[in-house]
Amino acid sequence: MKTNILSILSVVLLSALVIGCGSGSKNEVLYMVTEATFPPYEFRQGDDIVGIEVDIVKEIAKELGRPLKMEDMKFDSVIPCVQSGKADFAASGITVTEDRKKNVDFSIPFVKTGLVIVCRKDAPVANAADLKGKTIGVQSSSTSDIYVTQNICEPDRYENAPLAVQALRAKRVDAVVCDQDPAYAMAKNDDSIMILPELLTEEEYAIAFKKGSPLVEAANKVIERMKADGSLEASLKKWRAEMPSAD
Ligand code: GLN
Repeated sequence: MKTNILSILSVVLLSALVIGCGSGSKNEVLYMVTEATFPPYEFRQGDDIVGIEVDIVKEIAKELGRPLKMEDMKFDSVIPCVQSGKADFAASGITVTEDRKKNVDFSIPFVKTGLVIVCRKDAPVANAADLKGKTIGVQSSSTSDIYVTQNICEPDRYENAPLAVQALRAKRVDAVVCDQDPAYAMAKNDDSIMILPELLTEEEYAIAFKKGSPLVEAANKVIERMKADGSLEASLKKWRAEMPSAD
């Protein structure tokens, strides 16, 4: 009798596990990973993680009828976490690149942006060519890291862009290359630093899923809808205006 109950229980548990795979059953937690020092896309406001991408993923969770769990971690862990299937997706201002496409599937992009140069006003940099021979700070594993390494020099790598900008203020680096919107957040209340107007790259952000994930379709549907009904534009406007200093 005991064995019978045990085998019934294990069948029930196994089926729950199998059903738990795929696009996930309703009510099953949708597990997102991010690095929340990236305003206006994802950043901390008190105990909450908020921003443009958070608005998008909340809509995706609603579309799927699943509760959302967000975990804040180092940027260089977010893609591996999705790739291994530990998380359902990563929403972390991730730029779509051909290399990353080999490891994850992306949703359609939700914004077009690029990289900028941040420098100190007392030691200005004129343009990208002027970066040669200088010490440049970047966020490790980011597109800035890739850009500077491939086009300029071996950069000084930091865990996130705010830490790279702290090094700039402390004169440990001569310039920082980072994403445009977070750069504006960092320069917002800081008279000692400036952003060059020139965009070094053209990039698009999208949400990253495990290869073959059926969730991409729901994400694309939501992003299309938010583009069409103006709610994405409203979210961009709102969070860009409310952007705190990213440090
Ligand atoms: N957009 C950059 C990248 O994808 C940086 C993202 C981030 O720091 N959150 O590498």
